[in-house]
Amino acid sequence: MIDLRSDTVTRPGPAMRRAMAEAEVGDDVLDGDPTVRELEAATAEALGTERALFFPTGTMANQAAVMVLTRPGTEIFVHDDSHIVNYEMAGAAQFAGVQPRMMRGAPRVTAALVTAAIREPSPDSPRASLLCLENTFNGAGGMVTPPDELAAIAAVGRAAKLKVHLDGARLWNAAAALGVPLSSFTASADLTMVAYSKGLGAPVGAALAGSAAHIEEAWEARKRLGGGMRQSGIIAAGALYGLRNHLGRLTDDHTNAKRLATIVADVPGVSVVAPDSNIVMIDLPAGVTSAQVAAGARERGVRVSMWLPQRVRCVTHLDASAADVESAATIIRDVMRALVRGIAS
Ligand SMILES: *Cc1c(COP(=O)(O)O)cnc(C)c1O
Repeated sequence: MIDLRSDTVTRPGPAMRRAMAEAEVGDDVLDGDPTVRELEAATAEALGTERALFFPTGTMANQAAVMVLTRPGTEIFVHDDSHIVNYEMAGAAQFAGVQPRMMRGAPRVTAALVTAAIREPSPDSPRASLLCLENTFNGAGGMVTPPDELAAIAAVGRAAKLKVHLDGARLWNAAAALGVPLSSFTASADLTMVAYSKGLGAPVGAALAGSAAHIEEAWEARKRLGGGMRQSGIIAAGALYGLRNHLGRLTDDHTNAKRLATIVADVPGVSVVAPDSNIVMIDLPAGVTSAQVAAGARERGVRVSMWLPQRVRCVTHLDASAADVESAATIIRDVMRALVRGIAS
């Protein structure tokens, strides 16, 4: 089975498992776990921030960031197709006591979308506290926002007194796609979340990165959410292994995604969003559904995700070689061709 549903499906290989089994550990809540500290230092260095803090999941890290950068009763600016809106179970409302002000009208956040969302401060309406950005942007097919544009977007928010949180679950991919340092993105944000369990292939884990003061507050927020972990060096070792060994190969995933996009586009009526990174969105013609494509592909040993009723998502990753992606793409193309032929006849 070639599984292209997500880059979260990767499994730790023998070397990563060995690193985890042999990790030096301690009680991270009591007085520190050495492997967690090593991961946090390596992450802060890679991202060009003062400090970083290890989290069990990107979702918890995003929620902690919203808690740190807002006050209850305020509103946060978020794209309506972002992870915080789509997948975090109203956590921002529950844990931080804030409400979302949705930005919509473009596939990802632009300076114009932020400008359109800003309103004059008034005693009648909630104060705006935070601008949330996501890079790469999953909902738009792993779309990359370049550092200079990200800075311009953040500047619009800052002019309206907003703090900035960057959901960079796939920031590694954005940096690899453009060949720029990770620090060129984090410079625009107060806090940045990065995930180890996507492109880097670790089984679990994420981090928040930012100033020492913000990270101290994030420690409290993480503890409040139940994310204070003990011998967490076991899982941090997997993340550290991914950071040290898999960062440099992300461009392979991007090359494979482009190849997949080219192959599957060769079906009448199908349109493919040209991938910036490792995610390919395939839009189907009227009469063909993503459920049909997913079922047909699965029968032939390929798994894809049903993003929308007529949009299929494929994600390339560490456990899908160039040859795997080539053969998966051919199968997806053939399944779609047969379905399109079916509606024509
Ligand atoms: C996966 C993801 C998250 C959450 O990470 P988990 O570790 O799965 O909780 C947050 N934001 C984006 C954009 C993601 O893709």
